[in-house]
Amino acid sequence: MEPQASILVVDDSPENLQVISAVLKEHYKVKVAINGERALALATAAEPPDLILLDVMMPGMDGYEVCTRLKHNPATARIPVLFISSRDEEEDEARGLSLGAIDYIVKPIRPSIVQARVRNHIDLKRSRDLLERLTTQDHLTGISNRRRFDDYLAAEWRRAAREQTPLSLIAIDIDHFKAFNDHYGHPRGDHCLIHVARALASCVTRTTDLVARCGGEEFACVLPATDSGGAERLAEQMRAGIVAQCLEHAHSSTHSYITISLGVATAVPRADESAQVLIDLADAALYEAKSAGRNRYVTRSR
Ligand code: GH3
Ligand code: MG
Ligand code: MG
Repeated sequence: MEPQASILVVDDSPENLQVISAVLKEHYKVKVAINGERALALATAAEPPDLILLDVMMPGMDGYEVCTRLKHNPATARIPVLFISSRDEEEDEARGLSLGAIDYIVKPIRPSIVQARVRNHIDLKRSRDLLERLTTQDHLTGISNRRRFDDYLAAEWRRAAREQTPLSLIAIDIDHFKAFNDHYGHPRGDHCLIHVARALASCVTRTTDLVARCGGEEFACVLPATDSGGAERLAEQMRAGIVAQCLEHAHSSTHSYITISLGVATAVPRADESAQVLIDLADAALYEAKSAGRNRYVTRSR
């Protein structure tokens, strides 16, 4: 069973809030907001709503303004907004839809129509969320996949070029993993990859840091606005964190437990370069870390 979808209802009239909540509460988790400010706060809270029913006319910040702000914030832009309004002029509806709302319902509401439209939009939202997960998540480990890594690194590279801030990348590779698979079998190998992915992901703390599985037993970590020293500290924390997992590896010539090697790269991008510059630096550093004995990081910056 899927968890109940949550719906945020925004209206300046307590009676309206009550009427609409009553129509929805049998099937959904319903939250209410009595004004625009409160609505924005709830939309950006830890558990954002799956859908927002938004009144147009409210004192202070009106529904159009709330919708505009929601659509301009990347964290809330994908939440479907349905306007509920007593204004039924063509231009009102057109304006609401042009601001990014997905639907427009005219008051007084007809309960069965509201229920049906909400159900349709919730179904669509769930399909979109699933598609988003499938295209950006690694199926084995659940962390970001190669596609997401490529997109994110390219975007952060452009941002760092604009802002002239350092961008760091850590390339990570499990040591002697072929021997692990050969000795313990592929299922244990997969289990080990899941373990390593979780341990690496638990090392990063900033919401802008991204840990991804780039393929096979290779991982990468993108660290925006992070200099070489900061990236090295994290690399060491990751290295030590993986050894501390005590994942037995009897056929490693490096250690009796699973270890990783890391290549740390930092650069302030120049406008005419692509992120490949950083990938090449990190790969070269990783290669050095392998040659120098594994279970270590090596840094390259410029
Ligand atoms: P090095 O220390 O130089 O990195 O050696 P290595 O053995 O780790 O590197 P190599 O690239 O030779 O081997 C990588 C191995 O990773 C090959 C394969 O057995 C294993 N592998 C790659 N993808 C998966 C996967 O999805 N699941 C499992 N179980 N193993 C995988
Ligand atoms: Mg390896
Ligand atoms: Mg490899």
